Amino acid sequence: MARSHPIDRYRNFGIMAHIDAGKTTTTERILFYTGKSHKIGEVHDGAATMDWMTQEQERGITITSAATTCLWREHRLNIIDTPGHVDFTIEVERSLRVLDGAVCVLDGNQGVEPQTETVWRQADKYDVPRVVFVNKMDKTGADFYRCVQDIIDRVAGKPVCLQIPIGAESEFAGVIDLIKMKAIVWNGEALGASFEEKDIPADLLDKAVEYRGKLIEAAVDMDDAAMEAYLEGTEPDAETLRRLVRTAVQRRAFHPVLCGSAFKNKGVQPLLDAVVDFLPSPVDRGEIKGIDFKTEEETVRHPTDEDPFSMLAFKIMDDPFVGTITFCRVYSGKVETGQGVINSTRDKKERVGRMLLMHANNREDIKEAFAGDIVALAGLKDVRTGDTLCDPIKAVILERMEFPEPVITIAIEPKSKADQEKLGLALAKLANEDPSFRVSTDQESGQTILKGMGELHLDIKVDILRRTYKVDANIGAPQVAYRETLTKKVEVDYTHKKQTGGTGQFARVKLVIEPNETGKGFEFESKVVGGTVPKEYIPGVE
Ligand code: GDP
Repeated sequence: MARSHPIDRYRNFGIMAHIDAGKTTTTERILFYTGKSHKIGEVHDGAATMDWMTQEQERGITITSAATTCLWREHRLNIIDTPGHVDFTIEVERSLRVLDGAVCVLDGNQGVEPQTETVWRQADKYDVPRVVFVNKMDKTGADFYRCVQDIIDRVAGKPVCLQIPIGAESEFAGVIDLIKMKAIVWNGEALGASFEEKDIPADLLDKAVEYRGKLIEAAVDMDDAAMEAYLEGTEPDAETLRRLVRTAVQRRAFHPVLCGSAFKNKGVQPLLDAVVDFLPSPVDRGEIKGIDFKTEEETVRHPTDEDPFSMLAFKIMDDPFVGTITFCRVYSGKVETGQGVINSTRDKKERVGRMLLMHANNREDIKEAFAGDIVALAGLKDVRTGDTLCDPIKAVILERMEFPEPVITIAIEPKSKADQEKLGLALAKLANEDPSFRVSTDQESGQTILKGMGELHLDIKVDILRRTYKVDANIGAPQVAYRETLTKKVEVDYTHKKQTGGTGQFARVKLVIEPNETGKGFEFESKVVGGTVPKEYIPGVE
């Protein structure tokens, strides 16, 4: 069987936002308009399509990073869900690693919020092209132009408007498409609301001309011929303008801004058009770096069906119907069910048992997956987040994901001693799914210690223990918080943060911490191992 869509018609993208900006609502509307979701649930009423786990619905935050496949204008869209809560930046990072582009959703009233800043920085780090959707234009206090300014002021982005709103707050009626120079007005607020293209209202014409001017100036900068023509008085036509904006997005030259109200069913269809028109396909994103399994030399794979098969596991989760599934992105080649592959990260053999495409409301069993696909695999033996699965003959280890070290520690014990073993098994499984969640036993106190990225992160694990694994547990502060540094000598190499008196250099410092004879305190010394820095900046240096 051949692939259903050529790879240049794939869009693997994420929707990133501060919590409550409307990511879930926007995703749901997208799934509705792309025809795969037939029931739109009120997000916080517990029927959200992407929020599978009960606790997520209760908390109203999306923790999982599931991927959902849908179709729009003969393109295959894989939406990779990215969570919006600050404690889950690790989840955002791993999503960003496997997606090619992103839609950044802003609350039209709140503008750029703290978590928008965090995810924006992460998207910058992974060089992710993105478009911005100013949502909630119907909300009291919504101000499109303030949001655009926020993008400049708060995240040093380069917004260029592709639309301007028609009205705001309860008067929000639609958008002006600055490429077509047409007004798009929605008929009512019903689900599946239809829209009409109309002439631009007279009172908005000047503003539309002004913003179209800005758009054209930014766009022609992408292409010498278009710039020359523009300087000679010829504006690019709609098709050229779209091509130039596409180039700009891929080069991260600017960030197109659109607007709407997902909740009131306005603006979502043009947002989908923007995903297709401007976000990159896997081919645009180009080759993927890796290390040759045998020679350990740097190597690359190309997003083609001809290159040897490679894919990256980016999310392991429990599916209520299928059991444990591993979400993987195929980077190169193709893979079939029944095929023997190697987990090159762990040097272990695996067999591809079952492969699924996850749609909004059904799981489609597939026999083959191709470069660009995002699939869920069931029945793998020992695959962890970040592992590479590939062709055993031409094995490669794809560029690794970075996982931050957990920072918060709690002690946990089951309320009933009989649950001790159940707790151990459940924790082992959770740690396997989430690289930023660690489980250990304190040698001295015998306590089970959990480490995570934040209080909510650990809270949710305890909640999963209770709901999914039926283990009730007490949590508290670990009995011996400083013991780790006391029982053995620790050496830490770090870069001293303070700048050295105007020289612009940073010092590399070695810190040695050793338990003293009493066993209750510690000695430490620090040495500068590189760079120069005034002594008073280094703790412990006389
Ligand atoms: P998430 O946390 O980013 O996934 O945000 P949700 O999609 O869960 O939305 C948060 C809240 O904002 C919910 O109560 C939504 O009904 C509401 N909401 C989402 N989109 C809009 C919108 O366009 N306009 C208004 N007024 N409310 C919205």
